[in-house]
Amino acid sequence: MASQHAAQAGGEDLNLWNIVGRMFDKAAANLNIPEGLLKQIKACNSVYYVQFPVRIGDKYEMFQGWRAEHSQHRKPTKGGIRYSLAVTQDEVMALAALMTYKCAIVDVPFGGSKGGVNLDPHKYTRDQLERITRRYTAELVRKNFIGPGINVPAPDLGTGEQEMAWIADTYDALMPGQIDSQACVTGKPISQGGIHGRREATGRGVQYGIREAFRFPEDIKACGLTGGLAGKRVAIQGFGNVGYHVAKLLSEEDGCVIVGIGDVTGGLHAPNGIKIADLAEFRANTRTIAGFPGASPLAKATDVLELDCDILVPAALENQITLANVDRVKARMVAEAANGPTTLGADERLHARGVMVIPDIYLNAGGVTVSYFEWTKNLSHIRYGRMEKRLDEMYREKLVGTMEQVTKTRVPDHLRRDLLKGADEVDLVNSGLEGSMQSAYREIRAALKADPRHGDLRTAAYAVAIQRVAQAYMELGVFP
Ligand code: NAD
Repeated sequence: MASQHAAQAGGEDLNLWNIVGRMFDKAAANLNIPEGLLKQIKACNSVYYVQFPVRIGDKYEMFQGWRAEHSQHRKPTKGGIRYSLAVTQDEVMALAALMTYKCAIVDVPFGGSKGGVNLDPHKYTRDQLERITRRYTAELVRKNFIGPGINVPAPDLGTGEQEMAWIADTYDALMPGQIDSQACVTGKPISQGGIHGRREATGRGVQYGIREAFRFPEDIKACGLTGGLAGKRVAIQGFGNVGYHVAKLLSEEDGCVIVGIGDVTGGLHAPNGIKIADLAEFRANTRTIAGFPGASPLAKATDVLELDCDILVPAALENQITLANVDRVKARMVAEAANGPTTLGADERLHARGVMVIPDIYLNAGGVTVSYFEWTKNLSHIRYGRMEKRLDEMYREKLVGTMEQVTKTRVPDHLRRDLLKGADEVDLVNSGLEGSMQSAYREIRAALKADPRHGDLRTAAYAVAIQRVAQAYMELGVFP
């Protein structure tokens, strides 16, 4: 049973399935939903466990993989695939549950799922990773755990566009002739049916979520910060897909100062700011952030969590802010880009100290939101903006021309270029993402105001999610 394998550290239960369950119970206690229905929402509906062999060099190696489907109140189910040595059944089930709640919060019509293979992706060559990915996909096809209308994976820790392209190709090879087969997975390269803006979507969603919090001065003041986002000192754990994009976007577009970055290879500190483009180039050449000349090294990689800063963005793994280090966290805002980075005990301590925690089930939903756009693009077989871009530009030309005629003034060329440009796919994707993140934040905030018993944004976010899933089940007629 899941809970029997609870990991303990300093008396704290670090089993993510248990943690998510307790967060669920905390929010559910304030809701008027029948107990049986709550049980149904909380449970993980199905888990597929598989062991499969792959030839590695001149030997066969056995791999363990999982795919969990937490809830089918909406279909297909959706969630990433993780390659990591820490992958377990409980972790995959917990991450699938988070996906259910996340999709409900940003109003994306999917149930939650997650998958993982227990391996260290850095240990294998590209060719070996391709064979592992194709074999894992074949196992999912065999048991009906993948398909455009069934279950749609995406990238997560240790996987990216390349793995998604192999998954799509394997699915297509095993299920030939399906016109919608590209929609069996999202986060693909553009040439394979991907969508512009998906690569940075989770990081961009984090940026939009933090921006939204700063639009409410009363919330920002309550956590001890003042003013806008510009100039805020940010420390980030993780410099992968999510962490890198958060660092880049917050520094380049919002004027934040990235004072610290940590990853599996080390930690960096620079009170005047790390140049993200330089660090990305250094990492691309050396495959590590350790030794980057533009910052001082931290004694331990995890020291990044304890740096003097305004905003801390955990963007790596779960269970990073625990009872063991929470009292040394100096940030006034914790923006959870990773899934499950804060334990329940640590979360309560942060809340007691007035630190604002923007919860994972809201803040990292940008990835699944844009995945939803990619899925609908694949099903419609047409790129966003293709039909209307030229028409939009013609209207703009007419408008600017009329303005110039009436005012007898020519619009300067640099302004004219911006005014005349019709929306590209990435503009539409980012605007859809921004709208989704804005309205979700406002709904969570309104739920907290409406029922102060929730106490914090996380509990309010769970409450919003549980109510939406409950409504879907009731309308389905499962609970007459
Ligand atoms: P990634 O594999 O691209 O990057 C992971 C980063 O974490 C790397 O910088 C790695 O060095 C660092 N890391 C790994 N182990 C570490 C350790 N022990 N200590 C410190 N750093 C460590 O993964 P990602 O896609 O950026 O995902 C990061 C987090 O964001 C995960 O929790 C994931 O579930 C979550 N997330 C990702 C997406 C997405 O679209 N990729 C969407 C939602 C949530």
